[in-house]
Amino acid sequence: MSRVFNFSAGPSTLPVEVLEQARQEMLDWQGSGMSVMEMSHRGKHFMAIAEAMKNDLIELLAIPANYQVLFLQGGASAQFALIPQNILNGKTKAAYVNTGAWSTSAIKEAGKYCEVQLSASAETSGFTTVPTLNTWQIDSDAAYLHYTSNETIHGVEFSEIPDVADIPLVCDMSSNILSRQFDVSRFGLIYAGAQKNMGPSGVTVVIVRDDLLGLTQDTVPSVFNYQLQAKSDSMLNTPATYNWYLLGLVLQWSKRQGGLAAIEQTNIRKAQKLYQAIDASVLYRNPVDPEYRSRMNVPFVLADAGLDKEFLRLADAAGLSSLPGHRSVGGMRASIYNAMSEAGVDALIDFMAEFERTH
Ligand code: PMP
Repeated sequence: MSRVFNFSAGPSTLPVEVLEQARQEMLDWQGSGMSVMEMSHRGKHFMAIAEAMKNDLIELLAIPANYQVLFLQGGASAQFALIPQNILNGKTKAAYVNTGAWSTSAIKEAGKYCEVQLSASAETSGFTTVPTLNTWQIDSDAAYLHYTSNETIHGVEFSEIPDVADIPLVCDMSSNILSRQFDVSRFGLIYAGAQKNMGPSGVTVVIVRDDLLGLTQDTVPSVFNYQLQAKSDSMLNTPATYNWYLLGLVLQWSKRQGGLAAIEQTNIRKAQKLYQAIDASVLYRNPVDPEYRSRMNVPFVLADAGLDKEFLRLADAAGLSSLPGHRSVGGMRASIYNAMSEAGVDALIDFMAEFERTH
């Protein structure tokens, strides 16, 4: 067996310990005589897995008691449409900040269900920065303000939680949840697909403050009604059981790393050395405003795009996989989520230096 360093943006690399535990428990989960994927979701074994998984997430993120934690299907993309339908609360307008491709998608989808007020946009910068907070326009009749804390494609990450006074703050944390410490109580709603820092795809975490429940429009399918799902522990119908189990294993692993404080320090170190290597070179360039460079997704271009193919070919041959940038922006992108080891980042930096030396 040989494993590569996998820089994919998601689904992405998982901790080997997690995969090994899953393999070990595959045929017989802890003496139950069956695989987790064969269990009834209402049986005692799976109920124990689900409860531990939820409690571990609450512990890791220090989620206050006045929040519900939901595990839904449909990905973060389903949430783009479901958020307005669940929390507009009779209002017609919601405020959105556009910092890249994923906020653009969220805005487009929300526009089917409400009037979107574009509070601020970094589009004219080519999505290389975050608009300064004091330029944001937020109508007082907007039901909430939505932003994307980390733009997976453009590699732009908020360095702080924006202070938007009383309006409920809604955040797409798909690509940086669990990567740093933050205060959940600043938010009305947080959502994230699992396939970056939390496990395989197929589960979407929604963390929603109690006062935003019960506002769902009647037309919303029951499985996407936050309050109904909260009341039934996200088991209104059959959940993605095996994905919940794997999410649980990743959360246990995250706790063993020392929780978010320790994980954040490692992530800072990994990102800093990669950006330093890029900035020190003449061949590579990252276009993002240094204050808002993502710790999770590091896009870079080569001074001579004619070398892209050769770079990727040799990287692959060196066991450095999935480095092409998103098809919409080109260039390269190294996603260095929690499960990417420091050794993986070092190997990439060494490879990039050697490629620059020889080209
Ligand atoms: N938001 C962000 C920030 C993402 O990175 C992604 C997926 N890469 C999505 C939303 C969409 O997630 P999904 O494919 O799970 O719908």
